[in-house]
Amino acid sequence: MISFYPGPSKVYPQVEAYLQEAFRSGILSMNHRSQGFMDVLSETLRLMRLKLHIPADYSIYLVSSATEAWEIVAQSLTAQHSAHHYNGAFGKKWFSYTSHIVPQTSGSLFPVNQTITTHLLEQDDETTTFNQQRLRDYEVLCLTQNETSNGTQISQNELAKIRTLTDALVAIDVTSSLGGVVLDWSLGDVWFASVQKCLGLPAGMGVMICSPKALQKARVVNDILRYNSLLFIHENFEKHQTHYTPNALAVYLLMRVMEQVESIEKIAVSVKQRAKSWYEFIEQETDWQALVENFDTRSNTVIAVKGEPEAIASVKKAALAAGITLGNGYGEWRNNTFRIANFPAINEEEIFQLKTFLKP
Ligand SMILES: *Cc1c(COP(=O)(O)O)cnc(C)c1O
Repeated sequence: MISFYPGPSKVYPQVEAYLQEAFRSGILSMNHRSQGFMDVLSETLRLMRLKLHIPADYSIYLVSSATEAWEIVAQSLTAQHSAHHYNGAFGKKWFSYTSHIVPQTSGSLFPVNQTITTHLLEQDDETTTFNQQRLRDYEVLCLTQNETSNGTQISQNELAKIRTLTDALVAIDVTSSLGGVVLDWSLGDVWFASVQKCLGLPAGMGVMICSPKALQKARVVNDILRYNSLLFIHENFEKHQTHYTPNALAVYLLMRVMEQVESIEKIAVSVKQRAKSWYEFIEQETDWQALVENFDTRSNTVIAVKGEPEAIASVKKAALAAGITLGNGYGEWRNNTFRIANFPAINEEEIFQLKTFLKP
């Protein structure tokens, strides 16, 4: 079975051997405060820094999931107000999770074909009372860089513009793009993802990358509730340890995959090229349409394909029979789209098979 599901998604085939290797290495029975484990953890973070070009002054933490990262941002980095601007189901969920933790949480929905800065400037006028704060004075701005539910993305250009429009701490969900696109880390203060999407690993772990400004903010907020407290997490990672007994297998697999993959700028070239080819294929060689029409908001890593609900249901069924799993539509787009993961772990042969299948 070939999977184009955008998470959990196809894992790198090399993971099979890494599983065995992890077992034999003894790490699975190691105490997480032991030198052996600490060495694996620091090597994992070193390789992530190297391959993803994470700046030396940004810290990297391993957590349980992207969902947990949403809560860490709310709990440890937000004193008063959390502003969420989203165009799909994951951004909306993040807003909803935060509103249970931060009393003053505002959410604003924008259309899939609109760029985020157009939307932010449009709603930031004197007449709107929707947000308690103007954009410039936002405390924390929460953005989903790659919205997995509808196949949109916020470009690095847009993120750069946002930096000039607000002094907010900028938190960015890159769950379905980390490992597939080049991210300019300086444009955000908190970046996070879970490993089962673009990183090609089995589910069960999350990654958080924080700027010095985020750490400073954590000291101001001084959240001491423990489990999700960023300061407590930081304290442990300074010692190459974790704040709880970690999933050592997941850490080991991440280390091996980071060792195996090329630098992100190389991976990103191929991901971008494949994305371009997917969009052209869909529009020129099939009767389907891309859900996202604006080239500036189209995702490189998740492609949402639109059609009549009956046609969508039948193509998914036929694909399964042909040994191919397509991604279901999600949220508002559940019935009128299917999704194609364009993650680096998927190979050319698999893409060729899906294209052959989709040709009328
Ligand atoms: C999948 C996904 C999440 C949730 O990831 P978990 O590993 O389930 O916590 C959050 N945000 C985005 C954009 C996602 O695609």
